[in-house]
Amino acid sequence: MSFTSYMSQALEEARAAAARGEVPVGAVIVAPDGQVVAQAGNRTRELNDPTAHAEVLAIRAACAAAGSERLGGHALYVTLEPCAMCAAAISAARVARLYYGASDPKSGGVAQGARVFSHAQCHHVPDVYDAIAAPESEHLLKAFFAEKRKG
Ligand SMILES: [Zn+2]
Repeated sequence: MSFTSYMSQALEEARAAAARGEVPVGAVIVAPDGQVVAQAGNRTRELNDPTAHAEVLAIRAACAAAGSERLGGHALYVTLEPCAMCAAAISAARVARLYYGASDPKSGGVAQGARVFSHAQCHHVPDVYDAIAAPESEHLLKAFFAEKRKG
């Protein structure tokens, strides 16, 4: 499987989130052997939990599956630039590689805003690859918010 197919899976999670009325963001975590060990979409509204971002839910599930608080060697694919909270969680989990889609000028915390991985206090910095399938991710988000404004 290539990185584009993992991102397709993350986009599927984002579409499912939109169908639940959640902001369409999806995440997938891949173990060092290439197995998908977790996949999740946003569930903040469903769970009444502002921390239930796709990345956080996927990290929780992957850590539970691994029986470890750390995900060394794992890769995380997410359709949107992680926010500062998720970037901190990705660092704490020791995720090896982060692939994300669209950049997020509003809440992104990787390439802009808090730039979590650029801080001296950030003890683990993943390899970051951006703009993977970004147009698809942007399209989902734009369609979601356009629909919300209509309602
Ligand atoms: Zn987040």
